[in-house]
Amino acid sequence: MRRQQVRAGLLLASFALFPVTIFYFSPYLSVWGAFQGVVAGSVVVFAIQLISAVFLRRAFCGWLCPAGGLQEMEAHAAGKPCKLGRRLLVKWAIWVPWVASIAAGFAVAGGVSGVDPLFHIDHGMSVTSVGALAIYLGIVALFAIPSLFLGRRAACHCICWMAPFMIIGAKLGAALRVPQLHVEANPAKCVSCGACERACPMSLPVSDLMASGSVGHGECIQCAACCDACRKGALELRISRPGSDETAGRA
Ligand code: SF4
Ligand code: SF4
Repeated sequence: MRRQQVRAGLLLASFALFPVTIFYFSPYLSVWGAFQGVVAGSVVVFAIQLISAVFLRRAFCGWLCPAGGLQEMEAHAAGKPCKLGRRLLVKWAIWVPWVASIAAGFAVAGGVSGVDPLFHIDHGMSVTSVGALAIYLGIVALFAIPSLFLGRRAACHCICWMAPFMIIGAKLGAALRVPQLHVEANPAKCVSCGACERACPMSLPVSDLMASGSVGHGECIQCAACCDACRKGALELRISRPGSDETAGRA
């Protein structure tokens, strides 16, 4: 359980810093910068998310994301499981035109003229005005409200524009067969108690997935809540090369 307390502490700290960091996750600033030929701070963050996911998959979501922290705090109060299925595709319908608009921006600007991590972030702090505060509250509501109605971490499943970067990075790492952070499973130890699935903040069917010897699902955030909930030691978070039946990009 200690590992989950550390994770909860990191997520809480990240959410507390969200008024400072929010513009570093901004899809808007990334497009605005692109049309001026500038790589904004959020583009740098998205690139880091993609590259880190080659090895760590979606560990950022499980351990560091402020919006993930917000939704996990909500889940303690109203944490019904979230149905997955086709609603997982919504975030791709957001991501594809948005990334295309960044590419179009750089094309219109004639390429990349510079990198400015502080692009339109005064003194490196995101919320410094009433307008920025309104944006902050709007984004908090955007991530908080879906979870209330659709279930745990619904915004991660459905609308997050950052998740696709990490799903792509994880898939790339699996294709290259590099060592990756993942949940390894020993189905022989499983007694089908369901504790792993009840603990999963992403509402994944862990006992079904573990039959392959590894929880290789694109929505898995490497949080290890399932591992820590399993009293039989059937699940373990580790870094190693994925098995041959690994499917990091599934769903
Ligand atoms: S899916 Fe998006 S909002 Fe959810 S934890 Fe990952 S980066 Fe954060
Ligand atoms: S399957 Fe396990 S590691 Fe993956 S999101 Fe669910 S609880 Fe976390």
